[in-house]
Amino acid sequence: MYDHHRLGRELELFGTDPLIGAGLPYWLPDGAVVRHVLEEYVRDVERRAGYQHVYSPVLGKRELYEVSGHWSHYSEDMFPPMDLGGEQVVLRPSLCPHHALIYRSRAHSYRELPLRMAELGGMYRSELSGVLGGLTRVRAIQLNDAHVFCAPEQVGEEARAALGLIDRAYRALGIRPARYRLSLPGPGGKYVADPDMWRRAAAVLREVLDDSGVDYEAAEGEAAFYGPKIDVQVADGAGREATLSTVQVDFHQPERFDLRYVGPDGARKRPVMIHRSVIGSVERAVAHLLEVHGGAFPAWIAPTQLVVLPVSEAELPQADALRRRAVDQGLRARVAGPEEGTLGARVRAARLVPYQAVLGPKEAADDRVALRLRDGRRLDALPATEVLARVGALVRAHRLDLWDADERG
Ligand SMILES: [Zn+2]
Repeated sequence: MYDHHRLGRELELFGTDPLIGAGLPYWLPDGAVVRHVLEEYVRDVERRAGYQHVYSPVLGKRELYEVSGHWSHYSEDMFPPMDLGGEQVVLRPSLCPHHALIYRSRAHSYRELPLRMAELGGMYRSELSGVLGGLTRVRAIQLNDAHVFCAPEQVGEEARAALGLIDRAYRALGIRPARYRLSLPGPGGKYVADPDMWRRAAAVLREVLDDSGVDYEAAEGEAAFYGPKIDVQVADGAGREATLSTVQVDFHQPERFDLRYVGPDGARKRPVMIHRSVIGSVERAVAHLLEVHGGAFPAWIAPTQLVVLPVSEAELPQADALRRRAVDQGLRARVAGPEEGTLGARVRAARLVPYQAVLGPKEAADDRVALRLRDGRRLDALPATEVLARVGALVRAHRLDLWDADERG
């Protein structure tokens, strides 16, 4: 395992400035690429799974959080309200209240359910400055969030489908859960008081976990204030666990916001809200990817996917043409020319880049590429067109392996 703080600096992915403030990292160009790619991946996976994306503001009136219950159950984690012309507005501590209001903005029939609403949006947490650092303890969070509004009998299937999305994303990201946790309420006033609601919600999640066949442990005192959840835990190098992904069942906020749908019999009914996150916050996801892979991101995430290495000045024009073809095909490529040092030095400097295309006079003359893979494999020279096509296909498929072993090459 690697230290994501150190790597973030070395690889120039993100940084902080005391004048911006603790826990408020900024993203440098290569870090922004990683983040953008993750966001695009998640949006695409969600779109295919029937989610619709929305945008909502990062602020809301204090009354919004009084209705949702955040004000009375979660206020110590919230930023203090700002006075604005006699009103108080708050940086939001979660996206759910906005999504509940978007759902409520028009009438719904049972035929529209499950209605899956997703947003990759900002939320804020008033972490104390003493615990802030890197990307794991931040005050501004970009959350991959979604809320599924569904009928009570659809909860199990939707929760199962959300776990499936998480499993698929982890495979593509090359990360592994440390464990699954069924997070239940503990003693104290942190939790909404409604024993029957907690029992019903926990029973559904238990069943989903049992059916899925994964090992899990129940933990008291880890639930959200409004309902129990499945937490997918990951561990850092020191064995410290953190929650990356969650699936939560919520009977509370639909009640508080008086959400309705019209049932088949014409009667007005109450939907259930499932809160789910596939990769958690972008900050924590990138921190964990760094800790697991060092800087050697899966090829589809790597800031630079292909580095073109002309052996000498003479191959520079062909190198630049190859870079341009790669970029035109959607790959992130750059040229590292002789001005950056000897070929050996350039290969070492590009050791985290998954594909290194060496162009000597022979390759340049007949439009071929001698490809080196990040894992040390060297392939025989192949037509440049074939190399670009095969690399492009692996990247688009979010594959972890750098080359198809079963094909020639
Ligand atoms: Zn939520």
